[in-house]
Amino acid sequence: MSSPQKSTDLKTIYAGWLIDGSGGNLQENVRLRIQKGLIATIDASDPNREARSEVLDLTGYTILPCLVDSHVHLFMSGTSDLKVRTRQLDAPFCEIKKVIARHIAAHLFSGVTAVRDGGDHYAHALRYKEECPYTDNIPFQLQVAGRAWHRPGRYGKLIGRAPADDGLLAEAIAAEDAKVDHIKIVNSGLNSLVKFGYQTSPQFTLAEMKAAVKAARLKGLSVMVHANGKIPVDIAVSAGCRSIEHGFFMGKENLKKMAEKDIFWIPTAATMKAYCVHWERVGENPDVARRNLAHQMEQIAAAKELGVSIAAGTDAGSIGVHHGRGIVRELIILKQAGLSIQEVIQCATANGAKLLNLPAPHLLTRGMPASFIAVKGGPDRLPESLLSIKKICIKGIFYDSGARSSGPNASVDEM
Ligand SMILES: [Zn+2]
Repeated sequence: MSSPQKSTDLKTIYAGWLIDGSGGNLQENVRLRIQKGLIATIDASDPNREARSEVLDLTGYTILPCLVDSHVHLFMSGTSDLKVRTRQLDAPFCEIKKVIARHIAAHLFSGVTAVRDGGDHYAHALRYKEECPYTDNIPFQLQVAGRAWHRPGRYGKLIGRAPADDGLLAEAIAAEDAKVDHIKIVNSGLNSLVKFGYQTSPQFTLAEMKAAVKAARLKGLSVMVHANGKIPVDIAVSAGCRSIEHGFFMGKENLKKMAEKDIFWIPTAATMKAYCVHWERVGENPDVARRNLAHQMEQIAAAKELGVSIAAGTDAGSIGVHHGRGIVRELIILKQAGLSIQEVIQCATANGAKLLNLPAPHLLTRGMPASFIAVKGGPDRLPESLLSIKKICIKGIFYDSGARSSGPNASVDEM
């Protein structure tokens, strides 16, 4: 991202369209006044525009709040180069901190100003947060799980560890002194790419999960649970987790309970789309991955009907899911599954901000921080137009999207 442009105390912006992030509001031809980094007013565009130097003409553009990616793994790149992936799994912090800095820059270039990290085996993302300043001092919110928890011998080592000496999960959480922002628990295996609908057993019992959630709450921390399949998700939901990550094949009953209990769902459908692309590329049969994706999109449509809060998360770092631009693929899938473009943007803005409990709600309304992105064309060109962001404004300071020239020229297929 280029250096911040000069910020004036008062700036007036004319925008062709404004999506406020609430899920319902779409305004046309608006005038936005910014004062001291906040949105002072939003009203109808004046056809006799003030001919003043601080007026910014974005009449051919749509503006929307900055984005939140609610599920990433900053230590790992989305590359499908297995040598690079293997290296990153075990590389020392001095190497991974440069990788993480690159990934944070990629998020910012894509208009993502907050991410929730789902863990890595060596807790590099946690250490990065503690030790390293963010790129160019641009406000970037990073929330970390440190190391996720899994049962000994089950899936999860790449992103975490099991309680020591086969101890109880709740006791391990209580004894943890790392300064994490949330707890991540792995409660199922991965989705099969060869057997459609195959469900793995839960890693923890309901009693263990309840005790773990209670231990986390005593430390003021919420719990995000990796869970696929009916039983693993039911255990996490019944135990009072904050969010279900992935949730493939969880079924309608779980979605109903999540709506009732205000538990967020992060479908990470972009991972399955990436598997489809990758398997086709390497000559493997992508049929099961395609069916998994189609099923997840049916669940997204059901979640909309049932009123489940969906937050957009990419699982960036998963094979073929790139930090930053991966969010566009997730949003395209949400739209294809039947969400309106306002609802799609809500998943990646206000819902993400609520899930992460961010100080700013990522809404473009009066009195809120003037933090938004501008993309060319009308709302009908979203979410694809997020691949070529024109401007990013954070708390009233403008950044050009010069990143596009230095970053990879992404197309939808390459995301
Ligand atoms: Zn993950």
